Amino acid sequence: MRHTLSITVKLDIDFRWARIDVRGCLTRGSCRALVPIVDRSFRILQEPNVVIDLTGATHIDREGVDTLQNLGIVGPTAHPLLTERTGTCSLIVPDDLPECPSLRARPGGFHRSAV
Ligand SMILES: [Zn+2]
Repeated sequence: MRHTLSITVKLDIDFRWARIDVRGCLTRGSCRALVPIVDRSFRILQEPNVVIDLTGATHIDREGVDTLQNLGIVGPTAHPLLTERTGTCSLIVPDDLPECPSLRARPGGFHRSAV
């Protein structure tokens, strides 16, 4: 199965915040791609306030969210640079974690929707 992660970074023109929009599949493996991006954002920003928004992702694994939290990039003092400067990195996770579209769409399969 192929999970593809797509990341868009929006930077404040005064370098006060960054917003990282995550699309595609967030898995235990793919979430690691966010680490260098968060790190880079912290270095660029004058006031490092970073938001990772997962609400646009089409697939989120609980393990991916857990791994992201355990990588030490989320939280007010998690990042080494933030011990010298004030800032934070927060994570927006939807209440219901969407499952992978590639699991739902079976080519040639029979679909019945209960709407
Ligand atoms: Zn997926």
